[in-house]
Amino acid sequence: MTVNIDGSGRVVIPKKYREEFNLKPDSTANLLPSPDGMGLVLFRLTPKCANCGSERELTVIENICLCEGCKKLFKYKLNK
Ligand SMILES: [Zn+2]
Repeated sequence: MTVNIDGSGRVVIPKKYREEFNLKPDSTANLLPSPDGMGLVLFRLTPKCANCGSERELTVIENICLCEGCKKLFKYKLNK
């Protein structure tokens, strides 16, 4: 699929790929050189719990993402 780069360097990700990879406005992604150095690869970033990797019921505390279970676990351990 061919895309155009505008004068400010912006590329529109075709709707087909935005839907397929669940890329929504204000999504965060990583853009990295491809392993062969011939292009760029875009990786969608999915927030995950820093402790267990869960993607559900997340809260950000001081820039650390925690799920509800880990938040309760750490709260319990801190209060011991
Ligand atoms: Zn967790």
